[in-house]
Amino acid sequence: MRLILLGPPGAGKGTQAKRLEDLYGLKQLSTGDMLRAEISSNSDLGKKVESILAAGDLVSDDIMVEMIAHRITKPDCEKGFILDGFPRTVAQAESLDDMLENHKLNLNAVIEMQVNEEELYSRVQKRAEEDGTRADDNVEIMKNRMDVYRKQTAPIIPYYLDKTMLKVVDGMQSIDDVASAIDMILKID
Ligand code: AMP
Repeated sequence: MRLILLGPPGAGKGTQAKRLEDLYGLKQLSTGDMLRAEISSNSDLGKKVESILAAGDLVSDDIMVEMIAHRITKPDCEKGFILDGFPRTVAQAESLDDMLENHKLNLNAVIEMQVNEEELYSRVQKRAEEDGTRADDNVEIMKNRMDVYRKQTAPIIPYYLDKTMLKVVDGMQSIDDVASAIDMILKID
C-alpha cells in the first residue's frame, strides 16, 4: 500500500504515519525527518538546507525529488510506504507520478487531514514546549510555514482531487478517531 498524508504543519501527519507503519508494516518516509537527519550529521546537504528549514521555507524541488526517488525503491519500502511531508508542491507531485510510473507502482490514497488554524498553532506551540528540538516550532516561523502551505502546498489538493484520489479526514478529532477514519478509508479502497 502506498499513501500520501497531506496537511498543514501540526495536522498530525507524523503521528498517524508512525501508527500506520506499525500497523501495516509500511515505511514512513518523512522528508522533514530526513532533512533534520542531514542537518544533525552536518552533511553537505544538511549545511545547504539548515537555514531554509529554520526559516520555514521550502527546500528546492530538485533536492526533494532526488531524495524521495532514492528512497522509494529501497527494500524497506517493498510492502509500501507513507509519504509524510512530500509532495509539497505541484511540481513534486508531478515528479512523484513519473517516478511511480517508471517503477510501475500505484498510489492507493491521498489523505488530507483538515485542522483549523487556531488548533494548528496550539499544537505546534505544545510540541515546542514538550520537545523543543525543532528550530521551526515557534509562532513567528509557524506563520511563514502556514503561508508557504497555503501558497505552495495547498494547490496539490485540487491536483489529487482531479485524479479522484483525494480523501479527507477531520483532523480535529482525537488521535484514535483520526486513526479510525484513516483505517476506514484504507479498507474501503
Ligand atoms: P516537516 O517536518 O514535514 O514539517 O518539514 C520541515 C521542513 O523541512 C519544512 O518546513 C521544509 O523546510 C522542509 N521540507 C520537508 N519536506 C519538504 C518538501 N517535500 N519540499 C520542500 N521542503 C521540505
